[in-house]
Amino acid sequence: MEKIKTNKFCQSCGMPIKSDPQNGGTHADGSKNIIYCSYCYQKGVFYLKERLKKCKHFVKIK
Ligand SMILES: [Zn+2]
Repeated sequence: MEKIKTNKFCQSCGMPIKSDPQNGGTHADGSKNIIYCSYCYQKGVFYLKERLKKCKHFVKIK
């Protein structure tokens, strides 16, 4: 069994990882990062700031 447990929600934007078409972001070396979604974190770079500009309505920060 190689079932990988994923975080339920992105630790950055709170989006359910299941809703992420890529099932999580990626580190700089291309490995999976399941703490953040692919919208927030890709190839070791955070995109949340970009995303906040584009999708303010989608992001909820407590
Ligand atoms: Zn996210």
